[in-house]
Amino acid sequence: MAFRVHIEREECISCAACWSDCPEVFEEGDDGLSSIVEQYRVGDDLAEGRVPDDLEDCVTSAADGCPVEVIEVEEE
Ligand code: SF4
Repeated sequence: MAFRVHIEREECISCAACWSDCPEVFEEGDDGLSSIVEQYRVGDDLAEGRVPDDLEDCVTSAADGCPVEVIEVEEE
């Protein structure tokens, strides 16, 4: 089992919460907006990730903690 993660990057306010809370999956992109780390990126899309089961708590915590609710997590 794995999880799909999507960041509505254009709505990100660069608060740093997600990459502080879950640096295994999120990082600050060169444009200052939240991005999926290269390891879990789908294709070259900074906004799309596929992460393994054991990072569920990490990604859901980051999604819950996003003040503008732009991180979506979906079980595959
Ligand atoms: S928590 Fe949300 S607003 Fe803050 S950096 Fe991450 S995606 Fe952007």
